[in-house]
Amino acid sequence: MSGDVMSEAARIDGKAFAEKLRGRVAEVAKGFEAKAGRKAGLAVVLVGDDPASHIYVRNKGKQTVECGMNSFEHLLPESTPEADLLALVEQLNTDPAVDGILVQLPLPDHMDEQKVIAAINPDKDVDGFHVINSGRLAVGLPGFVPCTPLGCLMMLKDQLGSLSGLDAVVIGRSNIVGKPMAALLLAESCTVTIAHSRTKDLPEVVRRADIVVAAVGRAQMVKGDWIKPGATVIDVGINRLPPTEEKPKGRIVGDVDYAEASKVAGAITPVPGGVGPMTIAVLLRNTVVAAHRNEGLSLDENAI
Ligand code: NAD
Repeated sequence: MSGDVMSEAARIDGKAFAEKLRGRVAEVAKGFEAKAGRKAGLAVVLVGDDPASHIYVRNKGKQTVECGMNSFEHLLPESTPEADLLALVEQLNTDPAVDGILVQLPLPDHMDEQKVIAAINPDKDVDGFHVINSGRLAVGLPGFVPCTPLGCLMMLKDQLGSLSGLDAVVIGRSNIVGKPMAALLLAESCTVTIAHSRTKDLPEVVRRADIVVAAVGRAQMVKGDWIKPGATVIDVGINRLPPTEEKPKGRIVGDVDYAEASKVAGAITPVPGGVGPMTIAVLLRNTVVAAHRNEGLSLDENAI
């Protein structure tokens, strides 16, 4: 780790890292097609009209195809009964052309998210949200790990090599980011602290950390003087600041005050261009892994 307090932190380029990962996925997907005689396939289900979700789903579909896999998009109206969504999930569970299933969250209020996630075949749950996959992660069995924290771990290992013995502080305890992130860091033999909204003296807790992962959803909350000199900082937060004349739509910032923290940290992810681009790339990685497992084909999963 570089520990020079006066120097600017290394900027961890998530966009470039994601591009490299997609390149590896494309190669593996090509090999899969040659061996299995079919393309790997990802089914994405979106219920409702949320414009941000539509953009996200379109991007996923585009990148899936660019990586040489099939994308099956199911766009359902907001008024879809929960039973119809469950029936679609069941159909995808048994469709041999579908290796991964992703149901875009959040779902409309009349649906029970946990019930829908529980209906997905855990071996096709490429988002890693099914309790079977959370359990597998907790006890160290192979399964599927949520894409955002797995992407964060990949960037951390690329930056630092072995993480063994490092002090890691994860701020946020959501099922999607904070908890799986903590489990992954523990599996890498970090000493892990999970901080959250009730944590006492958060700045002091963060100051102990060699690795800080911020997943809170509060713009620029983590200040420069919370960071131990030389620490590696991963900023998961995506927050839109109020509009200004210069930025009428409002600037997107992370949970970390980048301008301050980058003067103290050893390395840091920017927002945008850090964790965000990694999430879809890891989803594609999980899909090609699922395809191999579903067909009983061997694959060095740690190499992608
Ligand atoms: P969440 O709202 O489910 O969880 C936020 C967590 O932050 C909670 O566990 C809460 O205890 C903690 N928290 C809230 N206020 C706090 C405070 N003052 N001090 C300490 N902890 C506090 O959110 P999430 O789904 O985990 O997402 C977190 C952020 O990451 C959001 O900004 C979200 O948009 C972003 N995100 C980004 C990606 C990506 O691809 N880059 C993916 C998922 C989430």
